[in-house]
Amino acid sequence: MKFAIQSRNDELSNKLMDEAIEYLTDFGLIYDEVKPEIVLSIGGDGTLLHAFHKYQHRLKETAFVGIHTGHLGFYADWIPSEIEKLVISISRKEFEVIEYPLLEVTINYQHMDQSATYLALNESTVKSPEVTLVMDVELNNSHFERFRGDGLCMSTPSGSTAYNKALGGAIIHPSLPAMQLTEMASINNRVFRTVGAPLVLPAHHRCVLTPVKGPDFMVTVDHLQLLHKDVKSIQYRVSDEKVRFARFRTFPFWKRVSDSFIDSDE
Ligand code: NAP
Repeated sequence: MKFAIQSRNDELSNKLMDEAIEYLTDFGLIYDEVKPEIVLSIGGDGTLLHAFHKYQHRLKETAFVGIHTGHLGFYADWIPSEIEKLVISISRKEFEVIEYPLLEVTINYQHMDQSATYLALNESTVKSPEVTLVMDVELNNSHFERFRGDGLCMSTPSGSTAYNKALGGAIIHPSLPAMQLTEMASINNRVFRTVGAPLVLPAHHRCVLTPVKGPDFMVTVDHLQLLHKDVKSIQYRVSDEKVRFARFRTFPFWKRVSDSFIDSDE
């Protein structure tokens, strides 16, 4: 089996990476950064986001596993002292694969029907670079609201514990193929109105944002942020693609939520 490692690049993560490469190679696995079948991410959830984007062109052939060298993560739930155990399980292929939904983001530009498509593991956000964001929100080809405020965030179920949670969104179990739209500081008064609550949309629904003001927008896809010029519309849907995680033991999602946000035994 071929493997690759993504490190957060701090001292501890790099030391663990060297150890893991040595152990896995001793067990007959081949280090291959181009076509790995399993990718170990050593660092935090942010490190796994980087690994995901590095290998997003071959998700069907890649399974991810995360080791955290800081606090417990949602994508990084192994601790450094378990590395030997993990290596043995990988070499014996003693794992099952679980899949989480992803978000597809398509940005359509005003010129010559050009568009760009991205995949998000956590979320995509839209903000206006200078002024209040004003966007028409369309759900399944039907006008829903005119949003005015700081921005909008569309998250995946596994991303619901990240930025989405800070915006007051619900935590969604990653077995549900859905996406969630949350508001950032919407303007609500006698003149302007938004729904003022997070919306959870199923896989067969589409959400299209059409600019009313501006044509340039800051759009994030996970940790990546770009200024998009001359935007005609931004479409969100649950992707047909999924991210695959190697699961070696049960660590229920709600236990991870409770350990991360309420009380941890670590
Ligand atoms: P960062 O600003 O360095 O770190 C953001 C934090 O979010 C880190 O503590 C990271 O965990 C954590 N995180 C990432 N994915 C998560 C998930 N699915 N569930 C719970 N926590 C998660 O940025 P980054 O490391 O490049 O990560 C980019 C992410 O930051 C974005 O996708 C967005 O979700 C998040 N973000 C959050 C806020 C907010 O909460 N107000 C604002 C902007 C961006 P680790 O420490 O384990 O890496």
